[in-house]
Amino acid sequence: MKLIIVGPPGSGKGTIAKRLIPDFKLTHISPGEMLREEVSKKTSLGEEINKYISQGQLVPDNVVSDMVKLKIRGHPDFVLDGFPRTVEQAQILDKFTKIDLVLSLDVSEKISVERLSGRRVCSKCETPFHIKFMMPKKPGVCDKCGGKLVQRSDEKPAIVKERFKIYHQQSLPVVKHYQKKKILQIVDASGAPEEVYDNIKEAINSLKK
Ligand SMILES: [Zn+2]
Repeated sequence: MKLIIVGPPGSGKGTIAKRLIPDFKLTHISPGEMLREEVSKKTSLGEEINKYISQGQLVPDNVVSDMVKLKIRGHPDFVLDGFPRTVEQAQILDKFTKIDLVLSLDVSEKISVERLSGRRVCSKCETPFHIKFMMPKKPGVCDKCGGKLVQRSDEKPAIVKERFKIYHQQSLPVVKHYQKKKILQIVDASGAPEEVYDNIKEAINSLKK
């Protein structure tokens, strides 16, 4: 099965994609993660990518598309997370694979900002926390290793709002692209994680029948 999951920052799509992997035997293809890996390795490509990400901007099409193409070649069943972000990317994708279902997660800007700007990550072991939903025992300190908790630069409220705005500007044409192909399903993602995931499983299972 070939799935695409789209949703604004804070819609939980990364977490959902990770759960779909064992449940439906899929490979998780996340260009966002692939890009961050490149950044953390501090390659020259990584440095270039970081300039876009830290300003809430998108990384150019050709860089992302090439990475995705390579990965899909070896993995026929997948969930694609964070791609395509533009109609141009969707058209490139259409040329090398046929998607079965596109799940579009829907949340408000308010929820997006609340979920993301509260996130903290340990600067040493990268364990994630949340100042509201997953509080550390001691504010600002990692429960596991005592490392300092930091906020990712792209999760500051102003940047989240910018990312949310960019997402909607860019995703509307992409969503329409898949609506025309009749493979789009819109899922309300503002509820509790379990509730949202049940809706998604239902959408996938109805496709199988
Ligand atoms: Zn830690």
